[in-house]
Amino acid sequence: MRIVVTGVAGFLGSHLAERLLLDGHSVIGVDNYVTGLPRNVGHLSVFDSFSFVEHDVTLPLYFDEKIDGILHFASPASPVDYLELPIQTLKVGSLGTHNMLGMAREKGARFLLASTSEVYGDPHVHPQPETYWGNVNPVGPRGVYDEAKRFAEAITMAYQRYHGVETGIARIFNTYGPRMRPGDGRVVSNFIVQALQGDPITVYGKGEQTRSFCHVHDAVEGIVRLFYSDYVGPVNIGNQNEYTILQLAEMVLEETKSTSPLNMLRMPVDDPKVRRPDISLARELFGWEATVSLREGIRKTLPYFKREVESRNARARTILDQL
Ligand code: NAD
Ligand code: UDP
Repeated sequence: MRIVVTGVAGFLGSHLAERLLLDGHSVIGVDNYVTGLPRNVGHLSVFDSFSFVEHDVTLPLYFDEKIDGILHFASPASPVDYLELPIQTLKVGSLGTHNMLGMAREKGARFLLASTSEVYGDPHVHPQPETYWGNVNPVGPRGVYDEAKRFAEAITMAYQRYHGVETGIARIFNTYGPRMRPGDGRVVSNFIVQALQGDPITVYGKGEQTRSFCHVHDAVEGIVRLFYSDYVGPVNIGNQNEYTILQLAEMVLEETKSTSPLNMLRMPVDDPKVRRPDISLARELFGWEATVSLREGIRKTLPYFKREVESRNARARTILDQL
């Protein structure tokens, strides 16, 4: 297949492109680098079947080639990023999704939307099945991301119902692993970098809120299985084990052997208090469940962050030497 991956220079998009190329497909990666990095796709040029287009998908995009599949992953994803880029986030979820659905319709391609557990907001149903409609504050600061993704899901279903586009929706829960930007503000990257540098671990609130952290290899497997299937609606992709943020902090400190103190900070507005996927549907549809435990996943991810922290420190030393 020839597959378009938007958001290819980001964390998940780059891993997905790699997997699709290894599966023997051609990939056209699209990104405007708003939160992604050129080096996340640099290594993909070893594949003749990979090409890259620098483009903002909120603007129309046309390809002459036959396209068989589109994985629409472009969007700021870290709360820090989308709070800094509220309009871009709303535009990529709405205009960007519309443009990519238009391409899917014209090309007869399967379209897979990267949606999110944030569509459940601060949930009243726990764990969250796909049938739960969510509890989202549309006018709160996080609304720019949550509502963009909810609109993206709605327009995806409309293209499926009214234009017969073959669609799928991956509701992805907190995923972590190599190629997350060390400074992107998400909890796993923050805690690991802080622990490695001996800086205080920034726990928001009392750290009693929960999340279910999925290693990127598990997430990619689930997303690809959904893409290869013909299932139309939303499917949760996430790890079934739930941890408090304090438990995560303790695990990171143990695994890094760091003595960083905890710094308890104010809880962000509308921060969901609990989050855990009900993954019965993914199990039933394509026999998928996450297999990497949080501790194992942190161990797998540490070497990447160690390299990042070392190269950042080396760059800082060079700058200081030049002063
Ligand atoms: P990321 O920030 O690392 O990657 C997003 C990529 O999209 C970046 O490379 C960015 O430059 C690109 N992008 C953003 N707006 C664009 C635009 N208008 N045109 C072209 N490119 C654009 O984030 P990620 O964690 O890799 O997330 C990827 C997707 O998965 C997002 O849609 C996100 O909402 C979704 N998701 C991720 C998680 C997670 O835990 N990582 C959870 C739920 C959903
Ligand atoms: N969090 C934290 N310290 C940080 C970053 C995040 O305690 O330095 C908390 C945040 O308040 C949330 C959870 O960790 O409850 C997960 O945050 P993240 O930004 O990774 O993703 P979210 O699930 O909120 O989209």
